[in-house]
Amino acid sequence: MKFGTKALHAGVEPDPATGAIMTPIYQTSTYIQASPGDHKGYEYSRTQNPTRHALEKNIAALENGKHGLCFGSGLAAIDTIIKLLSPGDEVISANDLYGGTYRIFTKVFEGLGIKFHFIGMEDINNIENYINDKTRMIWLETPTNPMMNIIDIKGAAAIAKKHNVLLAVDNTFSTPYLQNPLDLGADIVMHSVTKYLGGHSDVVMGAVVVNDDAIHQQLAFLQNSCGGVPGPQDSFLVLRGIKTLHLRMQRHCENGKKVAEYLVNHPKVDKVYWPGLKSHPNHHLAKEQMRDFGGMISFNLKEDTKEAAVKILEKFYYFSLAESLGGVESLCGHPSTMTHAAIPREERLRVGLTDSLIRLSVGIEDAEDLIADLEQALK
Ligand SMILES: *Cc1c(COP(=O)(O)O)cnc(C)c1O
Repeated sequence: MKFGTKALHAGVEPDPATGAIMTPIYQTSTYIQASPGDHKGYEYSRTQNPTRHALEKNIAALENGKHGLCFGSGLAAIDTIIKLLSPGDEVISANDLYGGTYRIFTKVFEGLGIKFHFIGMEDINNIENYINDKTRMIWLETPTNPMMNIIDIKGAAAIAKKHNVLLAVDNTFSTPYLQNPLDLGADIVMHSVTKYLGGHSDVVMGAVVVNDDAIHQQLAFLQNSCGGVPGPQDSFLVLRGIKTLHLRMQRHCENGKKVAEYLVNHPKVDKVYWPGLKSHPNHHLAKEQMRDFGGMISFNLKEDTKEAAVKILEKFYYFSLAESLGGVESLCGHPSTMTHAAIPREERLRVGLTDSLIRLSVGIEDAEDLIADLEQALK
């Protein structure tokens, strides 16, 4: 099955009871048993729910993985992955990360005895400098948020294999339409389903996909034991959203290209961060490991102050000022005061996240309208 066909059909079968073509919302907490232990594979909805199960199979198929698990949010998925580790274990993490990921690593798991090294991974060999006998996992996002750096997944996977540690990739920005980390050698891929997979800004959810049976068993045990599962209604909405993932992504990529090219030539704009630009330092790597370049763009201003950025953000008409990304409508944000406020300023500046940096999630509107909006706001 090719991608678009999988998006529609993988994991989804007509309802055996009625023939309903859409997976029903099994809004139930429990399932009757004919006799103790004699059930149809479903006992209790924290453990298994048919609507969630269809979605888990669907997302696994999109990532070319064997096993999928869904969670109540992207962070609940990350929480479960890190619970594979024990006190004393160490994680080598990319330093350019979603702010909430940085927060759960430093404010929750460091307190429970897990150590994180936050390092630049643009040069993948830097990872080896931090590997020791306590290292258990390498964690990265690519493209990174919000700086849109590209990290070499194949290279990181080779280092992970060599040292027998797990490689986990947050694939939220790329989506499985643009990039499949498991195919590039990663052990674990996670998503904030809230973003492109859901795609309509109406659900908060997370997902994890793996190939290895033993890792899947541990994650499923944690999913059931800790209980951070999504409900059937949200699972239905995401199944519905994913049916157009490939079409939405095509338009996000087309619009992303037009917006990035417009910004590059604007006199008030300093740097534009979008991996599809030939001037992007990792453009070649992006071309190798991604199928296209997506609709996430960051840029900063020649007048590099928070005030200058805020003035523009308040003027946008179609780019709504809001947290989040990946929905059909265009959004804009100011990472240093919004999504990345939890990261200390010195650390932000070190990765280029300056006070005027603006992040765009380019939606699927008509590009001409989006560019007209940028034009009037930048004026
Ligand atoms: C939003 C996001 C998360 C967290 O997901 P939630 O669904 O908000 O809990 C993690 N990683 C990235 C890259 C994100 O954009």
